[in-house]
Amino acid sequence: MSRSDHLQAVVSPPEGWAPASWRGYQAMQQPTYGNAEELDGVLNELHALPPLVTSREVMNLRHQLAEAQEGKRFLLQGGDCAEIFDDCTPEVISNRLKVLLQMSLVLVHGLRLPVVRVGRFAGQYAKPRSADTETKDGVTLPSYRGDLVNGPAFTAEARIPDPRRMIKGHARSAMTMNFIRALIDDGFADLHHPEYWNLNWVGHSPLAAEYQKMVSGIGDAVRFMETLSGEPIHNLRSVEFYTSHEALLLPYEEGVTRQVPRQSGWFNLGTHFPWIGMRTAAVDGAHVEYFRGIRNPIAVKIGPSVTPDQLLRLIDALNPHEEAGRMCLIHRMSATSIADKLPPLLEAVKREGRRVLWICDPMHGNTEATSNGYKTRRFENIRSELEQAFELHAAAGTRLGGVHLELTGEDVTECTGGARELTDKDLERAYRTTVDPRLNYEQALEIAMLIVRKQAQ
Ligand code: PEP
Ligand code: MN
Repeated sequence: MSRSDHLQAVVSPPEGWAPASWRGYQAMQQPTYGNAEELDGVLNELHALPPLVTSREVMNLRHQLAEAQEGKRFLLQGGDCAEIFDDCTPEVISNRLKVLLQMSLVLVHGLRLPVVRVGRFAGQYAKPRSADTETKDGVTLPSYRGDLVNGPAFTAEARIPDPRRMIKGHARSAMTMNFIRALIDDGFADLHHPEYWNLNWVGHSPLAAEYQKMVSGIGDAVRFMETLSGEPIHNLRSVEFYTSHEALLLPYEEGVTRQVPRQSGWFNLGTHFPWIGMRTAAVDGAHVEYFRGIRNPIAVKIGPSVTPDQLLRLIDALNPHEEAGRMCLIHRMSATSIADKLPPLLEAVKREGRRVLWICDPMHGNTEATSNGYKTRRFENIRSELEQAFELHAAAGTRLGGVHLELTGEDVTECTGGARELTDKDLERAYRTTVDPRLNYEQALEIAMLIVRKQAQ
């Protein structure tokens, strides 16, 4: 049977799968909850709550990602490394949205392609850690695993995993999503008013000036078209925005998994687009088991240690019927290893004719510590990994169809370099992240401009 014949035979759910079948597999990066009864109570409560997204939205996104796989769209996925409960405020949410809207405008304008907009938010609350414990001044405590699990304060009490945090995280995700939906319905993303997206704290900046020039050019074109046709162009008033997060904490993800008879299948309705992190992507592990049964579009982070054979087995497990818009691969190699590690993967996937969307995360392979003790990323390395990614795909005859970034609309200094040439010393001024360093507004805009330049070559 050919692969396209298989499409007719897609069974949902796949054999042996249930929302809880992951429990029979090894689950990495999970906390140990002390009170099983309390955990069960929370999971029942979670299961009874309304979903945060609908299956129709999820399928719409799948459709857009299928178009991106065919080269007809470009994916912009970005947001915080770790959302924190205290940052569920109108300013933080709308500033992040503004940066993503500005970046997507640069991309649409420069690439002449529709952009799929996906936020790394409204649920990005669970974090994988490289060590289970953390030691400070001779005291060892369990690591902070994100606000969905425990607290960041370095005290024994804060670090106890608390299942009630899942209910709180679900509510914060719902509030975030509700606010974004309301802003967009209200015309916040209206192309007639890109001035809504200006960030108050941005002073004079060469990049902002370049951006403003482009915006006023677009404004002129829109007014010209409307004058010609004699009526407003309504589809410029609104955009579609989707959400994503690392589906790491499996009891939570199980709790937001719902059967949708209309679509004949099970969906994770806590987000549109969940992904599997690099540390939990073992083909025989619990995360892959959970993901194989949901119908959402999914992504897997691919690090430098993944072999072509392992990658093909992962695709077999997660998208055996080659469904369109289903399988996305986010490579995150580092500026120094991408040239060695990526081409064999691209060649294997191409040789086997697998249908995937390739996305570059130029952040996670490039994390380092400065001499003054900050975890940072150098803009030059981020830029270099992304530039190389475009070149390596072009050389392999594959297409880089999206980018995955950690960024914020807040005035932070967490990554060095960029238009203002931030130094290690500058990191002391406004370093706020609880986990990984994010691009600030200017650095994010610079990346969008870079993508346009690379695609035009
Ligand atoms: C992340 O996206 O924050 C992350 C931990 O990434 P990775 O799984 O690629 O290391
Ligand atoms: Mn991160």
